[in-house]
Amino acid sequence: METRVRFAPSPTGPLHIGGLRTALFNYLFAKKNKGAFILRVEDTDQNRYVEGSEEYIQKSLEWVGMIPDEGPSNGGNYGPYRQSDRKDIYKEYIDLLIQKGGAYYAFDDADTLTKERAKAESNGKTFLYGAQNRLNFDNSLQSNKEEIAEKMNRDYVVRLKVDPGKTISVYDEIRGAIHLDSGLLDDKILMKSDGMPTYHFANVVDDHLMKISCVIRGEEWLPSLPIHQLLYDAFGWTAPQFMHLPLILKPSGKGKLSKRDGDKEGFPVFPMKWEENGSGFKENGFIAEGFINYLALLGWNSGTEQEIFSLEELETLFNIKGVQKGGARFDYEKAKWVNHQHIQQMSAAKLYEQESIREKLEGIDPEKHIEIIDLLKERLFTLEDFEEEVSWVKETSPYDEKASSKLQSKDPQKILKEVSKIIQETEQLNDLKEILMGWAKANEVPMGVMMQSLRIALVGKLSGPDLFQICLVLGKDVTLNRIERAISHFNLKN
Ligand code: GLU
Repeated sequence: METRVRFAPSPTGPLHIGGLRTALFNYLFAKKNKGAFILRVEDTDQNRYVEGSEEYIQKSLEWVGMIPDEGPSNGGNYGPYRQSDRKDIYKEYIDLLIQKGGAYYAFDDADTLTKERAKAESNGKTFLYGAQNRLNFDNSLQSNKEEIAEKMNRDYVVRLKVDPGKTISVYDEIRGAIHLDSGLLDDKILMKSDGMPTYHFANVVDDHLMKISCVIRGEEWLPSLPIHQLLYDAFGWTAPQFMHLPLILKPSGKGKLSKRDGDKEGFPVFPMKWEENGSGFKENGFIAEGFINYLALLGWNSGTEQEIFSLEELETLFNIKGVQKGGARFDYEKAKWVNHQHIQQMSAAKLYEQESIREKLEGIDPEKHIEIIDLLKERLFTLEDFEEEVSWVKETSPYDEKASSKLQSKDPQKILKEVSKIIQETEQLNDLKEILMGWAKANEVPMGVMMQSLRIALVGKLSGPDLFQICLVLGKDVTLNRIERAISHFNLKN
């Protein structure tokens, strides 16, 4: 059987990283099995519809390079791929299900149901419309044909007829067999009075018609599985395989990762920026390769020590056995570390293609851009770090007061004066390291003090990339000017 999987988001706002992780596992499963990855937009709930979210979902998938084989924008043989465009199909299948005896019309008005709900609640119970009480209500199960025809002029819904006293058995590829007493389920609404299907109905009909072989989705949908199984049974269809992915947990403590956690602790939870109130991994300096790799680790492991993978490697290695049952804890530091590894694997020329790198190099001699990226890339955990790392190239940052005060007692200005002289006499700055080291040794100048003084002079602080590379990037004139400036600074402090 051909592998066909689908990512079925609802356009109710930006995609949370959990959503993108679901898309990724679907995508990898499709690639691994040489199957199709389908995007289906589940937009039947008009009340929750948010303008722009479908576009956002498409863009996020594009950014990370997961292009659907079939979907609303590129079509396919099983379309339409937007549920709001499939109303006629649902109508046809709801009629079929009623004919088969698996569902029925319910004409109850809202008032009756509200009263019943209140009555149940006052007794401390949850109101359920189901086998135990359905005959007390106004539905097609106890109406004759004429009555039904007459009532169909009013608002009505269609409900699933759940037979009590049965054991519903479902199988999840990650969790194994699950059994549930059908008596615990109510007669779920399958079609609303506006003629729109509910999630359960549209989802099952579409998975069947789109020939989905395996449903991969978040664990929060596990409770829906018995209802879906009942629908497959009622239609007489074979259900696909199911895999419910573990939850993504908060960085610490209990519960699911939420936007609030991100806001509180200062990390993104969306792949890309969403309007004004949600920053994304992309804007926080993640490269697609790093972000995708980290997402893959949220609930999956290769069974080896290896943690850094390209998308192509993941496509061949991904294996459902590597998916864990328990929740996957979100760790932003780890995400940055993974991103860092991918930045190291990228050439400076490739990094230069990133808009956020280019804009931070504005005002610097273009001839030096690649050299600078090469020098600084090992220090980047995100592309945003480049801002701070590159700052010394443009101007000497104010000197780190603590570090320069500490050096003060060691006569840095005297050392810098000598260093300046040596630099003036050095033709090739490439040789500077050897020359300065030799000089320090011969004159018993403490190497550490010399290096620190020069670093403060050139960068303003004690951290940064290789000092002699810095001299090369700055060039002789700028290097000498900065040394001069530092000498005056130390003199003033005395
Ligand atoms: N539309 C559902 C969602 O928003 C899809 C659930 C499923 O994959 O069955 O997540």
